Amino acid sequence: MSILISDAHLERLFPAFVRLSASGMITSLGPSLTQHLDQNLVGSDFFQTFSVETPRKIQSADGLTDQREVTLLARVGTTEFRLRGIVLRDASGIWLLVGHVPDVNGQEDSFLLHMSDFSPADSSLDFLVAAHLRQGLLQDAKALVEELREKSEEAEELAHRDQLTGLKNRRGFFRRLDQFVAASRAQSTPFVVAVIDLDGFKPVNDIFGHAAGDQLLLQSGIRISRISGDDALVGRLGGDEFGIIIPNLQHEDDILKLGEEICKALAEPFEVKEGIARIGASIGFAAYPQAGDTPEILFERADYALYHSKQNNRGRPILFTDCHEREIRYQSSIEHGLLEARDEEFHLVYQPIIRSEDGMTVGVEALARWTSPSLGIIPPDTFIRIAEQTGSVCRLTRILLKKALKDAHAWKQPFDLSFNLSAVDISSPEAAEQLKQIVIASGFPPARLVFEITETAVMQDFERAMSCLCLFTEMGIRIALDDFGTGYSSLGYLQKMPINRLKIDRAFTRGLTTRHGTRSIMQSIVALCSNLNIDCVVEGVSNAAQARVLTEMGAPYQQGFFHSRAMTHAQLLAFLSSAGEQTALLATDCEAERKSA
Ligand code: C2E
Ligand code: CA
Ligand code: CA
Repeated sequence: MSILISDAHLERLFPAFVRLSASGMITSLGPSLTQHLDQNLVGSDFFQTFSVETPRKIQSADGLTDQREVTLLARVGTTEFRLRGIVLRDASGIWLLVGHVPDVNGQEDSFLLHMSDFSPADSSLDFLVAAHLRQGLLQDAKALVEELREKSEEAEELAHRDQLTGLKNRRGFFRRLDQFVAASRAQSTPFVVAVIDLDGFKPVNDIFGHAAGDQLLLQSGIRISRISGDDALVGRLGGDEFGIIIPNLQHEDDILKLGEEICKALAEPFEVKEGIARIGASIGFAAYPQAGDTPEILFERADYALYHSKQNNRGRPILFTDCHEREIRYQSSIEHGLLEARDEEFHLVYQPIIRSEDGMTVGVEALARWTSPSLGIIPPDTFIRIAEQTGSVCRLTRILLKKALKDAHAWKQPFDLSFNLSAVDISSPEAAEQLKQIVIASGFPPARLVFEITETAVMQDFERAMSCLCLFTEMGIRIALDDFGTGYSSLGYLQKMPINRLKIDRAFTRGLTTRHGTRSIMQSIVALCSNLNIDCVVEGVSNAAQARVLTEMGAPYQQGFFHSRAMTHAQLLAFLSSAGEQTALLATDCEAERKSA
């Protein structure tokens, strides 16, 4: 008998199997058996390991394949096993699908099957196999396998369904996506993948409770399915994320129109038991084959479009386009460029930090610059973000810190050096230790060094960040909390962290002389810093009016284009050597700034 059934399938159906080569050597063993037999039998001779008891003593693999049902006696060490099962032959060898009989003379009921003791969803298989074996007959092993296959498909179908919404779950969705891509390739038919993310779902869950959250997800699934049409396949990918595969959709206008309808439907109020809930939705689309021709790429691009929708176009659908494609290429060329970059490609520019009282420079902030030979000048927030995402930022920080400390050695005046760190730099003690060693090796006085970190960087893993920061503060390095006012600006953190300086973000400064209320907020933060005995630097001071207001309210330090733009190290040295003419130089700089503005 020859049965065409994949190895993987059989293995899944029967965790207790013995697989033999045609010559009778054991080539593999199911997991249940390996567990019981407690010894690696792969490679050993089957007939020396097991004796075949029924229906008649079989001496060779040839004889074994004649049989449909066998009982084996296994002696492994001191353990004796009786295994009963069926014999199948396939193209590459012989399968013995067996169960474990603990006591040959015992009741048939005690016939213990380990064939399918894997996942609860498949438990029906146990009964099925048990029933067959209890009848003791197994006239048709092929029929059994067929039946098992059906059962397992049912179980698989169940395993691919989301319990709450009845839609496909993530696994099921991706499986269908694979099939769609294969079919579309064969028939050259278009289709579209969409990824939907609900906006404001979490608050509903928090306020109305999980039962209401569940109801809302269920209803969202129904609305999405209704609008997507009968041909579409809708799945819940997890949490409040849904996916759709829509066949025969191709034109941008039609795709976006469908997206608009879905967004609109999801923006309608939801009636839940606890009241009326409102959410929104963002959608990203990717069309086959324009956006990609593999399931992975298509999904990734739909997800990319979703990300854009969430960032810039909340509540509106976005289709992945050539423009996104170029962005991705640009991003990956930067990723690549960063990996290849030599140390010499990076340098630092320095922006002075000014004392409001007398306009004197008290320190400089080092800002990274990268000129790639192939890509040209890349803005720091772009390459730093990408370096953070791809894990190359620690190397970058080390290169830059060494350069900044080397530059700082040339300064005659005892200025402070402020240096920016990324989240990753303070997320591992090893990375922090390396920075510490760089500072020690440089000979630069740690008391003149300030590490700037953002609140979001600290929040990623508060405990770890704290232990890294302590490593720095113990040696006298000061810590500045950068971009204050843009993140959580939690006062709780201020209290818990070893902060010496707060830098108020330039977004605040912008509204200082124009937006009502900003001035009082700024004033309060300045007072707070004074009470907590920490420095306060106001960033982004870009005109005289802002500088005056800040000085009047007692903000001690300022930084911004009005005072000076960032300069190269050579410019900084010239600037420092004419310290007496500093004010004049600053004025020239401001003049230039005013002209360029
Ligand atoms: P940041 O730490 O907030 O740095 C200040 C940024 O504000 C600098 O931009 C600076 O040129 C700019 N700036 C200063 N005064 C003004 C002003 O009056 N008006 C305006 N509009 N902008 C002003 P830059 O050099 O482009 O750096 C951008 C960001 O990149 C930095 O923001 C920082 O987050 C990051 N970055 C720069 N260098 C490094 C570095 O060495 N390491 C790390 N981890 N991040 C860095
Ligand atoms: Ca900074
Ligand atoms: Ca900043």
